[in-house]
Amino acid sequence: MRLLDYRHYPYGAFDTHLHAHLPPALQQRVVERRLRKVVRGAYRNVPFYRSGFDRAGLNPAHFRGAADLSLLPFLTKADVQEHFPNGLVARGTNLDRCVHSATTGSSGVATNFVFTPKTYAYYHATSFKVYTMVGYRPWHRATYIKYTAIPAPNLGPIFRVGHIPSLVPVEEHIAALRRQRPDLLVGYASLVLDVARNVTEDDLRVIKPRFISVNSELSTQAQRDEIAAVFQCPVYDEYSSEETWMIASQCREHRYHLFTNNVWVEFLDADGSEVPAGEIGEIVLTTLQSPAMPFIRYRIGDLGRAGTEPCPCGSTLPVLASFEGRADDAFVLTGGDRVPSLKLLNIFTTFIKADADFIREFKLVQTDLAKATVHLVAGPHYSTEQADALIRKLQSIVPEPVTFTIDLAERLDGGGIKHKAIESLVKPTGTREPAR
Ligand SMILES: [Zn+2]
Repeated sequence: MRLLDYRHYPYGAFDTHLHAHLPPALQQRVVERRLRKVVRGAYRNVPFYRSGFDRAGLNPAHFRGAADLSLLPFLTKADVQEHFPNGLVARGTNLDRCVHSATTGSSGVATNFVFTPKTYAYYHATSFKVYTMVGYRPWHRATYIKYTAIPAPNLGPIFRVGHIPSLVPVEEHIAALRRQRPDLLVGYASLVLDVARNVTEDDLRVIKPRFISVNSELSTQAQRDEIAAVFQCPVYDEYSSEETWMIASQCREHRYHLFTNNVWVEFLDADGSEVPAGEIGEIVLTTLQSPAMPFIRYRIGDLGRAGTEPCPCGSTLPVLASFEGRADDAFVLTGGDRVPSLKLLNIFTTFIKADADFIREFKLVQTDLAKATVHLVAGPHYSTEQADALIRKLQSIVPEPVTFTIDLAERLDGGGIKHKAIESLVKPTGTREPAR
């Protein structure tokens, strides 16, 4: 099975580069045209959108672009879980030839989705293009510390990509980094921070990245500064998701740019109206490069603030003034340290991926510094042995003694943006700082 269509690499790289340098008015026209194409294509080929648009009384022929998005219904994670694949994959898509991916996100249930090889190549090329913005070159070695292995291009001496699975001890990360000697290191902020806190002087003589990009979870400027100080290189933050790939990333000026060639971002208030630039809103995404499974007005569960000033770096891509993070909470430890929600979510994902019928839904709540409750809706394959194994795994990633208790329920309450799969009643302080 061929998962990547290499012919689309040059297109993805060129498209991203060109888009980032178009005059803003022209750039917006390109976005509008892509939005119309996505909405009309979805109406023609994707049953879920066809019935949704019909119910909303929308005639796609009259859809003009970004200003009309508010006429369309939202797509929630629950919708994706319920309607994948039959309702959400475009007619004529061969699922056997697609890249399959999944995330647990804020819903507490695995969400599955697919990309065509063409879309997947575009996403890869966009990522590389993003890294070239901060100095990456095709002959550099890149290493990803990532939860899922990603099929990566193998083009000989260029675009060399190494992969380190995230769920192994930090010593193994360091050993693998010593072997791979990456120029570019990409990984979850908490894992890279863990590496930074455990490398020795000798390790640092071998592991000498030129730049580091952290992603997938909330990291603070202080954490990124700590990583930068250890590795003596700039650390950039990236905002991406498994579903859409690159959403925004920091340029050399350390400001976040929105990749509107790939995904269109709305910032909405609680009533679903657009908030003025500069105010915090719920981030709602529409993918522009994935016709086989478009995400249209997808409520990803994040909050952010659009920028009002252009960036001096030269890119004309809109600026994201700040990313206020996931709706999920981190676990808070006694010293003020935190266990990121993603690390906890990954444990659940591992179990769900191993057996989709183990649990139907979950919610993990830290009630105080030493106690947490796992609220579960059992699946047909639920067993206490597996539940115990889940708890042992959770305990193993929390460096302090925390008692996890299982609470079986018929159903879990909640929904929408406020629903969190991981919640801490021990309140952490601060959000991600504005880019500066
Ligand atoms: Zn910039």
